[in-house]
Amino acid sequence: MKTVGHLIGGKTVISTDRTLPLNNPATGCKEGEVGLASAKDMQDAIAVAAAAFPAWRDTPQSKRAQIMFRFKAELEKHADEICQLIGLEHGKIPHDAAGELTRGIENVEFACFTPELLKGEFSKNVGPGIDSWSEFQPLGVVAGITPFNFPVMVPLWMYPLAISCGNTFILKPSERDPSAAIFVAQLAHDAGLPDGVLNVVNGDKEAVDTLLTDERVQAISFVGSTPVAESIYATATSHGKRCQALGGAKNHAIIMPDADIDNAVQALMGAAFGSSGERCMAISVAVAVGDEAAESLIAGLKTEMASLKIGSMEDNSNDFGPLISGAHRDRVVSLISSAESDGASLVVDGRSPIVNDDDSGFFVGGTLIDHVTQDMASYQQEIFGPVLCVVRARNLDEAMGFVNDHEYGNGTCLFTRDGEAARYFSDNVKAGMVGINVPLPVPVSYHSFGGWKRSLFGDLAAYGPDGMRFYTRRKTITQRWPSASLRESASFSFPSN
Ligand code: NAD
Repeated sequence: MKTVGHLIGGKTVISTDRTLPLNNPATGCKEGEVGLASAKDMQDAIAVAAAAFPAWRDTPQSKRAQIMFRFKAELEKHADEICQLIGLEHGKIPHDAAGELTRGIENVEFACFTPELLKGEFSKNVGPGIDSWSEFQPLGVVAGITPFNFPVMVPLWMYPLAISCGNTFILKPSERDPSAAIFVAQLAHDAGLPDGVLNVVNGDKEAVDTLLTDERVQAISFVGSTPVAESIYATATSHGKRCQALGGAKNHAIIMPDADIDNAVQALMGAAFGSSGERCMAISVAVAVGDEAAESLIAGLKTEMASLKIGSMEDNSNDFGPLISGAHRDRVVSLISSAESDGASLVVDGRSPIVNDDDSGFFVGGTLIDHVTQDMASYQQEIFGPVLCVVRARNLDEAMGFVNDHEYGNGTCLFTRDGEAARYFSDNVKAGMVGINVPLPVPVSYHSFGGWKRSLFGDLAAYGPDGMRFYTRRKTITQRWPSASLRESASFSFPSN
């Protein structure tokens, strides 16, 4: 049985004192274990990353970018193995894992572009014979802490850009599905990344707390649930670190009476149930404007849901796989039950799903709940399962009120044929990522990803232009060389032109 180790300074290091089982979520069987880093293991990794920083910072930018080009080629070459590793520990079906990997590779492509991004700003003659420029310097050792649901894509949101900007990096992936992240980091080394620039350390709170408090770590990127994001942000910033902490979500789709309902149904099927709903951009609430839209939407969803295919990663025609763990499945089931006891109507009940193959894993089927209201736990909490709640509104303002009043503000979308409504919605809705007839408006790598309200703690979003700003620090230099024609005598006034 395999034991997953860390990758520190280009070498595999295995912690044996504390381990966690790695289960295949489609069977519930233990397939291996992961060694959890002690504080000392993490301190060793930080020391390695700190030692690698000066030479890496001074490596010409084009050389760093060339490694990213080769890294992209390695990722494409090993795509099937990566998707297999994701599936074995996460349960994702290969077609979905391939989508995750493609979106991750986009971020490597963006990182190839950092020499252009880091050019800075220059002004000549800001004063007599004086030039001034701003440059973006790397921070030093930076760290990323990532969730289970995108074991490859979310790490790739972070370190390709961070290291291309000249930082060294420590990744603490989810302890629930670490193998794909380790494999991918190994590929970065195969692409020519020097040892110590990228280190992967597996662990739990002990490892994370060491990162948050060690003064050699300059910045923390976190993606995960909101309670953890909030606490990580508070601890990291109180230790003087820059921090961006992306949290959970409850993404609403509003369906207007004029929308193309068939199109909305197809869009919602993938957005609500894809990846078992374990996506921070999953649509988990459909707000139907008017009873007619609600009834057609529910009828369409009910018909489509009858042919959902649930099963393991072994069959690539499955629509989605299991949830990550037995404990998570039990939580999802209990939230469905709570909706029923709170008075909502269970239109499609996924609590005892028909699974294509072996059903001993952590499966929940697609679930549709109508007449959900704001006071219900199933509405307030992020369920993170294949569950779509329907709420009803009388008009667009009332529908937007649901989105705006919710504690989360990650993504949202509007289905309509009305341009005026679409513009009003995107101008006034309180969420960071907005779709118009686009159910999963996940920004491409050259924009940035981030929610509003309690979906993001910090000022800068992930990847893209914000990512580059997050992983660099501005320095502005003002320069004059002595010149006989410009000699000045001492002045005690504040310098001005
Ligand atoms: P999680 O918060 O349980 O774990 C995320 C990371 O934090 C893991 O690496 C974990 O080891 C670590 N961690 C967990 N508890 C900790 C603690 N008490 N102290 C220190 N570190 C701790 O999240 P998860 O269950 O792995 O992922 C699902 C969550 O992530 C969902 O809420 C989902 O919405 C969110 N998510 C958000 C985004 C986004 O971009 N906003 C993207 C993906 C996932």
